[in-house]
Amino acid sequence: MKVLIIYAHPEPKSFNSALKNKAFQILSGEGHDIQVSDLYAMKWKAVADKDDFTQLENEDFLKYQVEQKKGNLKEDILQEQKKVEWADLIIFQFPLWWFGIPAILKGWLDRVLTSGWAYSYPNIYDKGPFVQKKVLISTTTGGPEFLYSKQGLNGDLSQIFFPFLHSFYFCGFQVLEPEFFWSPTENKEKRKLYLKRWIKRLKQIDKEEVIPFSKMGEYTE
Ligand code: FAD
Repeated sequence: MKVLIIYAHPEPKSFNSALKNKAFQILSGEGHDIQVSDLYAMKWKAVADKDDFTQLENEDFLKYQVEQKKGNLKEDILQEQKKVEWADLIIFQFPLWWFGIPAILKGWLDRVLTSGWAYSYPNIYDKGPFVQKKVLISTTTGGPEFLYSKQGLNGDLSQIFFPFLHSFYFCGFQVLEPEFFWSPTENKEKRKLYLKRWIKRLKQIDKEEVIPFSKMGEYTE
């Protein structure tokens, strides 16, 4: 399998970094090909604006999706799109920040999953361009698991990630069960167990079933 890891954490000694490094080590060991986009190390531009284009269709009024579709994209975006085209599986490794994804990662979605390339009507959901590709999100939290249960004060984490995961379904991707690492800052033992669990999962990742999207096939023009 060809695996692209999109990694969004600013600290190379973080637990997120350890999870990313473990994924690289285990998946390479299993014979998979790996590419990593280390967004902070790359100084990834997170903000979508007119500077994302080498040339603008309309200089007076920026319609971002229209310009995306025109395709005069800057090189950093094209490089990421090439990696997506190459990959069979994309793993997103990041911490939960403000009940969502870090801004740098949101910027990756906004700028890379361009109109006309990642989606175009009616080529969305099960007719999307990436139906052969899989996505796995792997995230760490500060809060404990019970706060993220269905009745928990912080809300159900699967629901919190609904917009993020839905973006992938929208472009056709198949989605694997998310991997949640609850408050790894708590203690060493917990982190040891988490790494063990992660290694076990990664070794079998190519055999995993995807989560069926209930609305697949319902979209008609
Ligand atoms: P780190 O603090 O980097 O690492 C934890 C420990 O793991 C460290 O002691 C480190 O030394 C150790 N470690 C590193 N490598 C290894 C290794 N190989 N083996 C074993 N141990 C290792 N949390 C929420 O729950 N909800 C929120 O909405 C939320 N919003 C946030 C917003 C912001 C802006 C920020 C900065 C944090 C927020 N948090 C939130 C907390 C955040 O989610 C957690 O701090 C984060 O997920 C912890 O992961 P980490 O990789 O940063 O941990």
